[in-house]
Amino acid sequence: MHHVELITTAILLIWVAIVITLERVIPYRKGLPFFREGFWTDLVLYTFVQSFALKIIIFDYIIQPLDQHFGFSKLHFVTGWPIWVQVLFFVVTHDFYIYWFHRFQHSSPLFWRTHEAHHSGKQVDWLAGSRSHALEIIINQTIEFAPIVLLGADPMVVPIKACIDAVWGIWIHCNIDVRSGRLQYFINGPEMHLWHHADHEEVFYANFSTKFAFWDWMFGTAYRPDHKPLKWGLPYAFPKDYFSQHVFSVARFDEEELARRSRLFRSYHGIRGRLLTKLTDRVPTLKPLHGWPVPETHTVTIPAQRPGGNFGATPATSAPSHTPTAATSSR
Ligand SMILES: [Zn+2]
Ligand SMILES: [Zn+2]
Repeated sequence: MHHVELITTAILLIWVAIVITLERVIPYRKGLPFFREGFWTDLVLYTFVQSFALKIIIFDYIIQPLDQHFGFSKLHFVTGWPIWVQVLFFVVTHDFYIYWFHRFQHSSPLFWRTHEAHHSGKQVDWLAGSRSHALEIIINQTIEFAPIVLLGADPMVVPIKACIDAVWGIWIHCNIDVRSGRLQYFINGPEMHLWHHADHEEVFYANFSTKFAFWDWMFGTAYRPDHKPLKWGLPYAFPKDYFSQHVFSVARFDEEELARRSRLFRSYHGIRGRLLTKLTDRVPTLKPLHGWPVPETHTVTIPAQRPGGNFGATPATSAPSHTPTAATSSR
């Protein structure tokens, strides 16, 4: 058990090294800084703190009590299968589920609140996929790992599946100019998922796939133009700090405006700024990241209607089409 976790961690670290190297050599967007806006929030709070805390909640407080109550795992539904078949089975079935749940999140104003954080970064890179609302993680990972445990899969399947998720998550978000050709009909990659993070109306309801791209092609939501996006992230202002991002999903507020008005919020926010300054003051390239503005050339966003409403933006005159306008003939 421990052995597997050592191997999957090593694989993950090697993969990160390969991807960040390729991001420097053949970038999708040139000039994206390594320590981009939101880097520390994504690495420290989303990747380490949130993942660690939610793993305990999901496994110890949801899945284990479920199994204790129903005793499904004693029925050993998949126990006899070879491990690679178990892994393949759970990868494909979960990927099918996540396509539809992701698509639902983009069309439900309520569930959009659990997903917008994932779209809030204007500089998308290998680490960007880690930014997911806590509730989104709890829902998706419970639905992902509960069947693995309850159907009596080999205990190794959990760390193997988690490693595959991390490797693939890094891959689809990485800032690498991948030209995968026909493979993009099958395996999802940055060519289509980076478009999913674009602030372009034509992709607001497209490219929902995570691991396998064929869901998008099968269900008529694929968008794969031959040019690159100009605008990224959300068409409305979004808070930059972890806790504000979660509060914002419940109650809308303007972070900058609140910082101007409330001394309490300003001092709370000051902690984050001071901490970052302390950590990064000696490295000049990290300096621009403390403040509010995003170091981004294309900060102007088009007014378009998002499921969650256009916070701080005037709505577009025409209603958005729920299907992408280009590259999808069948639906
Ligand atoms: Zn999305
Ligand atoms: Zn994404």
